Amino acid sequence: MKLDFSGLNKQTQKSFGDQRAIIKRVMQGKQVLCEECKQALLLVTPEASEKPGISCRKGCTNIELDFA
Ligand SMILES: [Zn+2]
Repeated sequence: MKLDFSGLNKQTQKSFGDQRAIIKRVMQGKQVLCEECKQALLLVTPEASEKPGISCRKGCTNIELDFA
């Protein structure tokens, strides 16, 4: 699985580096909490959704990923 990070920082206010760090930790299976609601961030795979990425249940964090 390859990830394309090119569009990331257009989609949220977080910095590119912050997003990469979050993505890396979630992909490694580590628990990362949403800064807003303090709930665990979930990896959404292309199999699970048409909009894969990393998000919390409330949707305040929503990092879209392009899986290629
Ligand atoms: Zn949240």
